[in-house]
Amino acid sequence: MNFYIMTLFPEMIMGSLSSSITGRAQDKGYISFDAVNIRDYSTDKHHKVDDYTYGGGAGMLMQAQPIYDCYLSIEKKVLERSGKKPRVIYVTPQGETFNQNKASELAKEENLVFLCGHYEGVDERVLEEIVTDYISIGDYVLTGGELPAMVMIDAISRLVPGVLNNDESAMTESFNNNLLEYPQYSRPEEWMGKKVPPILLSGDHKKVDEWRLEKSIERTKERRPDLYEKWLIENPPKPEKKKRRRKKASAIGDSIDIEAKTDLANDIDN
Ligand code: SAM
Repeated sequence: MNFYIMTLFPEMIMGSLSSSITGRAQDKGYISFDAVNIRDYSTDKHHKVDDYTYGGGAGMLMQAQPIYDCYLSIEKKVLERSGKKPRVIYVTPQGETFNQNKASELAKEENLVFLCGHYEGVDERVLEEIVTDYISIGDYVLTGGELPAMVMIDAISRLVPGVLNNDESAMTESFNNNLLEYPQYSRPEEWMGKKVPPILLSGDHKKVDEWRLEKSIERTKERRPDLYEKWLIENPPKPEKKKRRRKKASAIGDSIDIEAKTDLANDIDN
């Protein structure tokens, strides 16, 4: 996977992504980063890349020309390499919100281009010309697109095969299957009077897996009810269980709501 980042601050991107896991993955050839300075493509004699907005209003806007020429230089490289135009992501608070599903989808691409905005943003015309995806990292406004691009690149990179030493860890982590990860413990067995749950020391892998799934469900329900609802829809109770749930629920009374019935059923099933 090759990441190209159009930015006014390439040193910020390269300094960060070249260290730790993403840096090692680059050294081993699983991923590559190319932070391209938009300013290098300005045709202005002072290498200016921004100007006032038409219609007035506060702040400056990144101009179309340097961004477009910067993109063309990247597109040329990508076309030579793969014969296919890359997806171009403009990181913007006006985009769809980034999440683990989006990271998995993007991890399947061979080349990705990120455009980092600054000031008041970017001239709309160049966005219309080159951008394929508008993605935000959350409902707040940052000063520039470098941090959002790095957040997304980090999350995507670790899903590229070979980047993590143990590919399995990405499969059991939070958001896989709409569940948060279960609680984890390391040495010592007792710390500040708190003991590691005995089941984790039992050596019984089946029981450990069951315990972890139970804790994942509990944690998701408590901390992210929105995800828990999605998980429930994708993992409806089996018919036999449903029957037992209905029986027990009606014994308690039909005024009980669906959520309470599900809780109750889960208690029974456990
Ligand atoms: N005027 C723009 C608006 O209201 O949508 C915000 C511009 S912001 C100050 C400058 C740049 O930071 C944006 O062009 C974008 O690239 C980046 N940025 C800021 N917040 C972001 C977010 N939540 N997600 C992704 N990128 C963001």
